[in-house]
Amino acid sequence: MTVVVARRERRGTEGAPLIDPFGRSISYVRVSVTDRCDLRCTYCMLERQTFLPRSELLTIEELDRLCAAFVGLGTRRLRLTGGEPLVRKGFMDLVRGLSRHLRSGALDELTLTTNGTQLAEHAEALAQAGVRRINVSLDTLDADRFRRITRGGDLTKVLNGLEAARSAGLKVKINTVALKGDNAGELVDMVRWAHGAGMDMTLIETMPLGEIEQDRTEQYLSLAEVRADFERLWTLTPMAKRTGGPARYVRIEETGGTLGLITPMSHTFCEACNRVRVTCTGELFLCLGQDDKADLRDVLRGHVGDDAAVEDAIRAAIALKPKGHDFRIDRPGAAPAVARPMSMTGG
Ligand code: SAM
Ligand code: SF4
Repeated sequence: MTVVVARRERRGTEGAPLIDPFGRSISYVRVSVTDRCDLRCTYCMLERQTFLPRSELLTIEELDRLCAAFVGLGTRRLRLTGGEPLVRKGFMDLVRGLSRHLRSGALDELTLTTNGTQLAEHAEALAQAGVRRINVSLDTLDADRFRRITRGGDLTKVLNGLEAARSAGLKVKINTVALKGDNAGELVDMVRWAHGAGMDMTLIETMPLGEIEQDRTEQYLSLAEVRADFERLWTLTPMAKRTGGPARYVRIEETGGTLGLITPMSHTFCEACNRVRVTCTGELFLCLGQDDKADLRDVLRGHVGDDAAVEDAIRAAIALKPKGHDFRIDRPGAAPAVARPMSMTGG
């Protein structure tokens, strides 16, 4: 009986784009393919982070099916992330499989966010699968500092990865979290380096996501301060460019490059939000900073071969997308805004 009602309701929505209750069109989906990572960045994870049992993760086939459902509902851009996507077994099969939506024209962009440690091995294959741009997260160019921030990472691997990406023709954007005690004094040099190598760069304020050892108030560096420092040195021209995400963009006239600024703490960016996120366990989170979610894994596993059920569940979830988030970082020792780390929801 319930099924009949659901099908009847569905008829009116079939083929319609995903629009949330605030009139925002949902055209961009980020999918976390694993919560595991080969690094342990201090602002992201605990040193002894516990990871989910493998059985809880969506399989590569389930990830493919879920992404296809989103594409069927009008998703134009798909970003694969994690944890570290390139450590997930079968990840390249997933990318190659999803590239069929690029070839069919249903998808404008298939991309990923990576820490770059395994990029040297995979850059060429990514490019061959139709990936054009990638985001590489890198918080410092100093090998010792890199080892400290990532708790043991090897900067050379990332630099080799970037070289491989360039040789493969991938356009790279560097994502850098601004960290008061760590890289604050290095940000100018990093911008010069990135822009000098033809890479765009985006700076990110630390967000209160997940439990970590350090007090986040000690790490938090306001990008308003960073921007004021940059403006003493360079001419920053605001750009009209908007991606529906949290970044605001400026052009630095002297370097000729684009700088994105993601300031979730000092500004909200929700009015034009066009995105949702899927965790590696198939939970659809409607906002990075809120707990509203829908469990798509049960739907995927309970309706093998019935993609209409998956589409219906996605539509029902989008109807619950909240208006915006409410991050606070100003109380030392306060609990994080949401308990799940970025490595789980996917950055
Ligand atoms: N491992 C990949 C990487 O580092 O690029 C992809 C996943 S990572 C969670 C995605 C992005 O989230 C990275 O740029 C990382 O710096 C950022 N990130 C992680 N935790 C964060 C936090 N608490 N606040 C702000 N950015 C964070
Ligand atoms: Fe791993 Fe990315 Fe988190 Fe660093 S930010 S620990 S690379 S998932």
